[in-house]
Amino acid sequence: MGKSSGISIYIHIPYCASKCHYCDFISCVGNKNDITYYIKLLQQEIFMYKEIIQDRSVETVFFGGGTPSLIPGEDIKELLNTMKQAFDFTADVEISLEANPGQLDADKLFHYRESSINRISFGLQALQDPLLNVLGRNHNAEDFYRQIESAKNEGFSNINADIIFGIPGQEMDDWLETICCVAEMNLSHLSCYGLTFEKGTSLYQWVQQGIIMPMDEDLEWKMFRTAIEQLPKRGYSHYEISNYSRPGEECRHNLTYWNNAEYLGLGVAAHGYLNGRRYENTAELTEYKNRIHNRILPVIHRQTVSPDEYKKETMFLGLRLIMGISVERFRAKHGVSCLDYFKNEINELVEQKLLWIDDDRIKLTDKGLDLANQVFAYFV
Ligand code: SF4
Repeated sequence: MGKSSGISIYIHIPYCASKCHYCDFISCVGNKNDITYYIKLLQQEIFMYKEIIQDRSVETVFFGGGTPSLIPGEDIKELLNTMKQAFDFTADVEISLEANPGQLDADKLFHYRESSINRISFGLQALQDPLLNVLGRNHNAEDFYRQIESAKNEGFSNINADIIFGIPGQEMDDWLETICCVAEMNLSHLSCYGLTFEKGTSLYQWVQQGIIMPMDEDLEWKMFRTAIEQLPKRGYSHYEISNYSRPGEECRHNLTYWNNAEYLGLGVAAHGYLNGRRYENTAELTEYKNRIHNRILPVIHRQTVSPDEYKKETMFLGLRLIMGISVERFRAKHGVSCLDYFKNEINELVEQKLLWIDDDRIKLTDKGLDLANQVFAYFV
């Protein structure tokens, strides 16, 4: 019997070598033993899902965190072997891993490659060491250059770099230099994010205390626009608000989210979406360990997505894509036209020149790209 549909898997690794100044992700400083032990727990959690998703084929896997590149080579091999025993992987499965520059030595790269990881996403953030210091990153630009070379030498061709604009003290020239240099390295994918000051982070505290000044909003907007203008000239297609890729090298895993498809979330603090229900794993490491030891799924919250919520999610997630939403695909998925179901919202947004309708597609306009959160608010 054939598999009913594909599925993606997100695996959260909660450990980092140190805590960055801007980070509010669930992560803590951990050593090699902590990580090896955590991998054993993940293996048990994987087997708990064996029956649950036995009729689905795994199309993408994403190791996020935290810092997955802290996982020793042998451990990642074991973890992926366990996954392959428990689940059915498609032949062209995309397996991505987030890494910090400088953490992947030749031995690790070899094991990662052997384990069938075929995409690495490096957290570069900036190419100027003083800016990396502001962010509290524990690598420098040189580490990044060396790391890209060694990853390419080991046979990795699908490589992303995350870069950030809006860093206090960053000048337009710094941003341009970062964009141009990474584009010249011919990476397959670039993610360009605006820095946010999240409560509870050191950076937030320093802004509150007047120790550092956030960037002027107008300059930050110009940086967002500079990426949109410069990267296509260098062969990258702008396919999602914050993401650019070489043709055909879009991140398939993230497309799962934007296409509002289902995924399994594994590990502490992971979120998942399975059989029409969104769920959340505990964010407490001790509780996670206890539950796994007692063979109980670490899920602490489940919510059935109502038909109305499902349609709204398809809208605000899909509108993040530059190509927008296909009216036909929406109808095939939800049994109704989005042009009818969201008639008032869409008309109003078209009138405000934030959305436009292009044949089968509903897309953000140029103005809509700048005011995307305003657009999404209509569907939340
Ligand atoms: S490496 Fe990533 S997850 Fe870890 S503290 Fe820094 S930004 Fe956060």
